[in-house]
Amino acid sequence: MTLLELKGITKKYSQADQYAVNDVSFEVEKGEILSLVGESGSGKTTLLRLIAGLEHPDAGYISLKGHKVVEGKKSVPANKRNVGMVFQDYALFPHLTLLENVMFGLKGKIPDPDKVAKETLSLVGLSENFKKYPHQLSGGQQQRVALARAIAPSPAILLMDEPFSNLDSVLKDQVREEIRQIIKKTGVTAIFVTHDTRDALSTADRIAILHKGYLQQIDTPRNLYEYPVNGYVANFFGKRNEILAVSTDDGFYSSFGFLPDERSKLFSDQVRLSFRPENATVGKDETQPMSGKLVKSTYFGDHQLLKIMDEEGRYINIRSNAGHIYEKESVVFFTIDKFNVEDA
Ligand code: ADP
Ligand code: MG
Repeated sequence: MTLLELKGITKKYSQADQYAVNDVSFEVEKGEILSLVGESGSGKTTLLRLIAGLEHPDAGYISLKGHKVVEGKKSVPANKRNVGMVFQDYALFPHLTLLENVMFGLKGKIPDPDKVAKETLSLVGLSENFKKYPHQLSGGQQQRVALARAIAPSPAILLMDEPFSNLDSVLKDQVREEIRQIIKKTGVTAIFVTHDTRDALSTADRIAILHKGYLQQIDTPRNLYEYPVNGYVANFFGKRNEILAVSTDDGFYSSFGFLPDERSKLFSDQVRLSFRPENATVGKDETQPMSGKLVKSTYFGDHQLLKIMDEEGRYINIRSNAGHIYEKESVVFFTIDKFNVEDA
């Protein structure tokens, strides 16, 4: 079931000369976790604020649970949209205990706010800290209080802006997993903004990528990574190699050698082959069809990255296991296991 629908959402701030969000349309299913990714300034926060009702779009509509919450001049105010928000800095009330923080939005709205607040704090794993104040908690715990406060009123949708950005990287891996499990346990539909592709790839069911206010692609993490619709999306999710080649009857001929492939029949002339460093395999001998000169190997503990150059000085990066020591300037043979082809 579609829970949230955005259609042609467009927003320009009055002082700005560029659109912050431009003709963005997508749908979110009930129970889904969607991540909004993009560089700084790409429009992520604006989009989240438009959904929350904290900004008004210049064009387009948003519907939540089948009802239009904004269209034209009409707009359901933020506090009536049944939206839960977690802000980047958590925005907890410092002078209130955890329990009071979570109860804040419940009082006068439901019969038993105390009970619901306690249950929600237990759900996020903070059942023993009801009486503590925010400053007595770690960053990860504060984050969970903010989450409890947002989900306690049973919102239709949970919106989180950069929820992991204040956590150090060791803590982050753990918190990401915890947050995902809590969200899935409650069944709440969630959208979280991040500029970190690792957050998005590991935590989201689907990812929407924004660039200069435009939606580039919305898809599962695997599809975005493996089948990016354009170069921008491909490069956003990590290193990517590009080789120019000529299409022949049974493969592609490039400056690194010949690569047999059925798809060559579909292309008539110059093509661009693109692949990620982990999609090529380095071999010991000449049974591998492609080769180049090793310029540099960079050791990362669990793998090494080999920089390999053709005769014209163009290079590619291939990921290889860390065990083998390669001699610099030696010839390295390899195959490309998986790659995309497009007209050059
Ligand atoms: P992100 O969250 O992806 O970093 P934002 O949505 O904050 O991006 O910003 C998108 C664009 O809108 C940027 O160019 C930013 O400078 C501009 N912008 C954001 N908020 C305002 C505002 N209140 N007034 C004017 N311009 C703004
Ligand atoms: Mg932002």
